[in-house]
Amino acid sequence: MLPNVPQNNSRWTRLALLGFAFVAPFLGLYLSRTNIALALAPIFVSHVLLLYATLVANCQWWGPVVRSFPATESEVWITIDDGPSLAHTGKMLDLLERFDARATFFVIGMHAEKYPHLITEILSRGHEIANHTYTHPSGSFWAAGPARISAEIDLCAEWLRTGPDRPARLFRAPAGLKNLFVHTELSRRGLALVGWTIRGLDTVRRDPALVAEKILRKVKRGSIILLHEGHRTEKDPDFNPQCLELTLSGLAERGYRCVIPPPEQLRVRDAGK
Ligand SMILES: [Zn+2]
Repeated sequence: MLPNVPQNNSRWTRLALLGFAFVAPFLGLYLSRTNIALALAPIFVSHVLLLYATLVANCQWWGPVVRSFPATESEVWITIDDGPSLAHTGKMLDLLERFDARATFFVIGMHAEKYPHLITEILSRGHEIANHTYTHPSGSFWAAGPARISAEIDLCAEWLRTGPDRPARLFRAPAGLKNLFVHTELSRRGLALVGWTIRGLDTVRRDPALVAEKILRKVKRGSIILLHEGHRTEKDPDFNPQCLELTLSGLAERGYRCVIPPPEQLRVRDAGK
């Protein structure tokens, strides 16, 4: 089943970006006849633009990114990355159940391979599984070519098929970084790239109250909330579950329901950036 993600004008932005990158050296060569400093300007600008499109998470210059959903009521979408985790997945599922919340777990394929029973448990308790690559190469995915991107997506997908009635339809890039080739490989597979509306920076911050506070300060109808599991399992094993608990509790106080939007509700907003 293909996710119903409308195309924005990213195609034209992508073509303009690549066109400028192609023309920039020739422009530089032409300008070098008059001023060498001026000649470097188009090359510098084209590199900055390419890096911005690649390294700024949620930027849509390479292609559409789902960054919110059109909720008609006070609904938000909780997404939990980097599991499944022996230390956390069970606790996260219990918390979600306590608050009658649904969530999408963007799982790492090699963790899913190791703990297939947790994938089954996530699905059987009414949540959704999505693709977050096989090895989670957060430092190098942005520079990966088509073959490596394909391998990361397909190897992960092999371990997500425990729910044939609910095929994995969504993908999130490690650290949200994606390059020119990622969208092509995703659209070949009918996968939508999902970003986020709010993140509490739970991989950086040390205080779960601050993580939840940042999320709750920015939350609005249709927000996609990014949280993590499986981090700091030795030094601070309760950190990730506490972030989720405080977030769920604050959302409930504010009257928000945590839902998984159906494919037809996913749309790309603010085209072009
Ligand atoms: Zn991740």
